This record gives sequence, C-alpha cells and structure tokens, in this order.
Amino acid sequence: MRLIGVTGGIGSGKTTVSNYLKEKYQLPIWDADIYARQAVEIGSPILNEILDRYGSDLVLSDGNLNRPRLGEIVFNLPEERRWLEKQIHPYVRDRFAQNIEKLASIGSRGSETRGPMASFDGPTAVLAVPLLFEAQMTDLVTEIWVVYLRPPKQIERLMLRDRLTREQAVARINAQVSLEEKRSLADVVLDNSSTPLALLEQVDLAIAKKVGG
Ligand code: ADP
Repeated sequence: MRLIGVTGGIGSGKTTVSNYLKEKYQLPIWDADIYARQAVEIGSPILNEILDRYGSDLVLSDGNLNRPRLGEIVFNLPEERRWLEKQIHPYVRDRFAQNIEKLASIGSRGSETRGPMASFDGPTAVLAVPLLFEAQMTDLVTEIWVVYLRPPKQIERLMLRDRLTREQAVARINAQVSLEEKRSLADVVLDNSSTPLALLEQVDLAIAKKVGG
C-alpha cells in the first residue's frame, strides 16, 4: 500500500496538490478537514461535549457549531485548544484507520487496483492532513510530502485568498509548526514558490518515484 500524506502550511498549496492527484491520477483523497467538520456535526457526541464546556449559545440558529467563535476562543487559549484537539484528533485518526483497513482488504483481493496507479504494488491513497505533524499522524502514512513556500510568498497568498491583513496572516502562520521545520521532516519537498505548473511538475516526479521502496 502506498499512503501519501500531503501536508504543509496554511496557504502553501496543499489543496492544489490534492486536487491534481485526484484529477490526474484518480487517487482517493481523504481529507482531515472534512472529517474534523463531521466530528462536530449536529447531534454528535463531540459537539455535545463542546457545548457542555462553552455553553449552548455556541451554535448558530440552525443548530450548527459556530466555528468562527470557537476558533476565537481556542486561538487565544492554548489550554483550550489542546482540549479541543483531544476531542477531535482521535475521531479523525479513526476515520483514516478505517479507510486504510478498507483499502488494504481491497488490495489483498488484488484485481481492483486499476488506472494510472496500477503499476505500483497495491493500492494508493492520499491523506490530506494540514496538521500531520502537530496531530502526530505521521505513523498513518508511508511517505510524507510537504508543500513548501518561502515565507514572504506564504503571507502574500494567504492575504489574497482569505482577504486578511498582513498581521492576521502572520498570526495564523505563526500558530502552526513552521514550514521550515515541516520541510526538514519531509520525504518529499514540493516547492511552490514559483508557478502552479512548476508545482505540478514536481508532483508528477514524486508520484513516479516510490519513496523508501
Ligand atoms: P492550502 O490548501 O495549502 O491552504 P491552496 O492550494 O488553497 O493552499 O493555495 C493557496 C492559494 O494560493 C490559493 O488561492 C491558490 O489558488 C493559490 N496558489 C497555489 N499555488 C500557487 C502558485 N504557484 N502561484 C500562485 N498562486 C498559487
């Protein structure tokens, strides 16, 4: 099995890479952000825990979690952030583990691995996990790809995409493990400081090369 963990910093180009892997190589993309949102769906035990802790007015009028408000609370209180992560990360990890188990059983039956990736041993999947290092999920993947970007560019793209001021963009970037550190822990570094095309060429090279095997 080939399990590619795609990570990086906020605004570094992770989504661009995942979308390309899905479209060009028809790989399944398992997205930690989607699972994290599902973890707190209306009626979920985790949402109930959150409301017990912070009050039932932390939901919108439709009953959904008011994510921006929760974000404000935990952004300023590291202790609360740790508490919240302790609720959500195990759920996300579980979802990945279930997917991996399912994929392994398909692989062991053999014939289902088709398409452009059929030449690799067994099936391949992509785990898109912004907090792969922070949430200690590196053991779930067989190779780590870090989408890297030089810091001034990261600030610039984040400001543009999310309409943030420079200060807001810098605060969000500083809340994560630095890209330099992530880069030093990668099996594959995809440098996205240049054009999107240059990034995707690096993806093609990384896919063709099976890391560590
Ligand atoms: P992430 O998923 O890591 O937060 P995205 O893939 O959403 O990052 O990219 C962040 C923003 O930068 C998006 O608006 C995207 O379209 C843009 N972008 C990505 N790569 C490039 C590039 N090489 N040149 C210019 N803009 C880019």
